[in-house]
Amino acid sequence: MDLSGALRAIADCSVLTDADAVAGYVADWTGRWRGGPAIVARPRTAEAVSAVVWACAAAGVPVVPQGGNTGLVAGAVPPAGAVVLSLRGLDAIGEVSDGAVVAGAGVTLAALESFAAARGLTCGLSLASGESATVGGAAATNAGGAEVLRYGSARARIAGLRAVLPDGAVLDRRRPPVKDNTGYDLVGQLVGSEGTLAVITDVTWRLDPAPRARTVLALAFPSPEEAVAAVPVLRGLPGLLALEWSDGAAVARVAAHLDAPAPLPTDGCWVFAEFDGAPEAAGVVAGLLPDDRIAVAGPEDRTRLWRYRSRTTEAVGAAGVPVKLDVGVPLAAFAAAREAVVRAVREVADSAGIAMEPVLFGHLAEGNLHVNLLPGPSAPERGFSEEFAERLEAAVLEQVLALGGTVSAEHGVGRAKRAWLERQRGPEQVALMRRVKDAWDPAGLLNPGAVLEPEVRRRTSGDPGADAR
Ligand SMILES: Cc1cc2nc3c(=O)[nH]c(=O)nc-3n(C[C@H](O)[C@H](O)[C@H](O)COP(=O)(O)OP(=O)(O)OC[C@H]3O[C@@H](n4cnc5c(N)ncnc54)[C@H](O)[C@@H]3O)c2cc1C
Repeated sequence: MDLSGALRAIADCSVLTDADAVAGYVADWTGRWRGGPAIVARPRTAEAVSAVVWACAAAGVPVVPQGGNTGLVAGAVPPAGAVVLSLRGLDAIGEVSDGAVVAGAGVTLAALESFAAARGLTCGLSLASGESATVGGAAATNAGGAEVLRYGSARARIAGLRAVLPDGAVLDRRRPPVKDNTGYDLVGQLVGSEGTLAVITDVTWRLDPAPRARTVLALAFPSPEEAVAAVPVLRGLPGLLALEWSDGAAVARVAAHLDAPAPLPTDGCWVFAEFDGAPEAAGVVAGLLPDDRIAVAGPEDRTRLWRYRSRTTEAVGAAGVPVKLDVGVPLAAFAAAREAVVRAVREVADSAGIAMEPVLFGHLAEGNLHVNLLPGPSAPERGFSEEFAERLEAAVLEQVLALGGTVSAEHGVGRAKRAWLERQRGPEQVALMRRVKDAWDPAGLLNPGAVLEPEVRRRTSGDPGADAR
């Protein structure tokens, strides 16, 4: 029996091979990265996941785990001939116990938050992709988001998990005792492993009491320097949940996209601060800026103000396929990094005669910049070449490294950033990572080409990472 026949014989699993049906699983969210051809397996139970992984291991075929496919570094884009293992069918949510709940890997973050909210709780992870991004994907990427400063990233939310190892065996650490210092932290190792060490089937997710009433402040600072200078004051305010930023130009783009005029000037750098029931914060920040540069929204109309930040990615997507980068720098270097990124992009664009528009925003508290580069009106109609995109990326990432920053703040490495991993972490740490990979996945069949270069000795039909472009 061939592999697709073996997969079809597995109970609680459907299999797609038709090119049209598979199309949505082999291209990434941005449309920039495309892989395959691939078979898609869609198991509905952990047992079926194990059977799929076992069958692929027996056939020597690579497996690429995939959740909501919202990742932005091509980590779930399959190399040619791989099996995409879609976890979306594992969508059961258990009962709350000891302040946590076991959720299937395919539960979306929005569904988990609705489940929590119905019980007066929050999952504490807020991503603009939450309607599609899954619990398993969030665990595999150690996702961050708007409320990291209050609740931590996915790593802090995860109390345990169950996973299928590359040979089909099951590792069950769903409900470890609250205190457990026995041996290496296998759960912690899988969080952020981007589907390269094991397939996560269930996650024990911590829930916290939900904020009572959310208040949002938007502050239109004339410059990024002034925005950064205000961070210590804002961080000191009680009940702070999120501290985000957007270039004024990015806010203006969202305003135009939504046909909703911005309520404040868009000449500089906006800061969005969200609080848990703290309307008095508005009084404290009054000294930072004149009244006509501050807007306040309570629980009823907070989304009307937040949308100028939360819908930026949507506004960018409506304008074209961007080159997307997610970087971070120490807060002290934030304004310089923003300036250096804009300058580096302009230099590369000018040298190629292609106008590029940087759309910049991110998570201010963590010194995070989301850099979205859109072709301007004078760009060639067919967009830009992959070679040009790589030059833009290199120009931005060199600036970030020079300022002591990170080439990936929260999206991970995937295939898109893997060439930069060694620059960031050094050869010794990358060699150690490879030994970790070999210990979990000695045959190298789990998501080959994500995070680490595929090993030459294991290549059969070329570089799977290159196939995914
Ligand atoms: C509009 C938008 C906003 C975003 N905002 C944020 C943000 O604020 N913060 C942030 O951190 N990210 C953000 N992201 C990126 C993305 O949503 C997150 O990385 C998310 O965690 C990915 O989840 P997913 O289910 O879509 O995973 P996928 O994209 O399907 O996969 C991502 C990686 O995880 C692996 N993987 C997925 N599921 C499993 C599993 N069950 N077991 C093992 N490996 C698995 C894949 O192989 C791949 O390497 C955003 C993306 C978009 C499109």
